[in-house]
Amino acid sequence: MHCAVIGAGIIGLSIGWELARSGYQVTVIDPAPATGATHAAAGMLAAVTEFHYQERELLHLSVPAAAAWPQWAQAVETASGRSTGFEACGTLVVAADAADRADLSVLAEAQRAVGLGIGELGTAAAREIEPLLAPRLAGAFHAPADARTDPRRTAEALVAALESEPGVAFYRQRATAVVQGERGPTVQTVSADGELAEIEADEVIVATGTGRIGEHGAPGEGLTGLPAILRLPVRPVFGDVLRLRPTATAPRPAGSTVRALVSGQRVYILPRRDGEVIVGATEREDDQAGVSVEGVHRLLRDALRVMPALAHYELVELTARARPSTPDHLPLLGRIGPGLIAATGFHRHGVLLSVAAAAAVRTLLAPAPEATAPRSPPTILDPTHLASFDPWRFS
Ligand SMILES: Cc1cc2nc3c(=O)[nH]c(=O)nc-3n(C[C@H](O)[C@H](O)[C@H](O)COP(=O)(O)OP(=O)(O)OC[C@H]3O[C@@H](n4cnc5c(N)ncnc54)[C@H](O)[C@@H]3O)c2cc1C
Repeated sequence: MHCAVIGAGIIGLSIGWELARSGYQVTVIDPAPATGATHAAAGMLAAVTEFHYQERELLHLSVPAAAAWPQWAQAVETASGRSTGFEACGTLVVAADAADRADLSVLAEAQRAVGLGIGELGTAAAREIEPLLAPRLAGAFHAPADARTDPRRTAEALVAALESEPGVAFYRQRATAVVQGERGPTVQTVSADGELAEIEADEVIVATGTGRIGEHGAPGEGLTGLPAILRLPVRPVFGDVLRLRPTATAPRPAGSTVRALVSGQRVYILPRRDGEVIVGATEREDDQAGVSVEGVHRLLRDALRVMPALAHYELVELTARARPSTPDHLPLLGRIGPGLIAATGFHRHGVLLSVAAAAAVRTLLAPAPEATAPRSPPTILDPTHLASFDPWRFS
């Protein structure tokens, strides 16, 4: 069985590799792999601290995804010979003032009520975990099960893993249309120099994120032939994110991801092993694809309030990208037509949920005739829960 995956962000790459290692023939189509939201993402795998009120359905994907990530990262690393940057690091959540602490306390209660592991620490205990925390904080919580990965390295590893599989083809071209024929769907593509191609497949998986292509987030020229229900509910929610590097004398964070509420505004500080520190992220619906001055100002102000030592770091990168978001903040994951599956709308959680997206698409497909039992990994999802993510729910 031949599957064509349109879009090679973290979602399309994960689906492509899951299908390839399960014995399907796979073609991945993207003119600029992993340059969309995946390029900006911090990589928090935070099923606990990303849980927010009214996002209960997401737990059906986020909890199994978080549990599967360590094994998934290991498998990608073995197949590719590259590091993904996965780290089991835990998350500290800190409050700048008393009102922030009250808000975080109510949220932690809601997280515990759905079975997620988060407990309140004193600020002194938090400082033992992360000595660079500011001396004047009002409260601290700890979610030890949260983890993180490096989305850029994970995407590179997935590309290498895919390219090492027999039966995988990579088209660095833009898909322009999906045409339904008598024998199944055909994807029409165009290369940068105008060369046209047609790819026949048994199944087409649409994993195009917001549908934008390229480093600067310019809108793509659109993919025709898809049901309108897929395009209508996906909107871009832009995020600014900063990358810092320590100067020779600057102290380095101990290693936990730190999330903070500062006068009601969220900020996170994510230290990587190589010294890089990610500070993120804004959420803007202003259609400004470039980096926002106000966003950068706010992120730096709040990050320094929580970890003053970052003032001695070098600011090495400012990035903005669009999260593919839906009205209910749940993904569009399911069949949208004969031989056509949607896998987009992963909003703030696409890196975490990439593993679940891959497992979901595999359960939606008929077993690959070529699949042999040992190569076919066990599924992590209860398929009955996929109804919550049905792309037709907005129609
Ligand atoms: C600032 C920021 C921080 C984030 N932090 C986190 C985090 O810590 N943890 C987390 O889990 N999530 C995080 N996210 C969310 C996460 O990045 C997204 O949910 C995820 O990247 C979505 O992946 P995707 O593959 O659907 O989309 P994308 O990564 O945008 O990929 C879509 C791909 O489709 C391609 N494409 C589009 N149209 C076509 C076409 N016509 N033909 C061929 N290819 C096409 C594009 O070139 C692109 O490569 C963050 C997002 C942002 C913006």
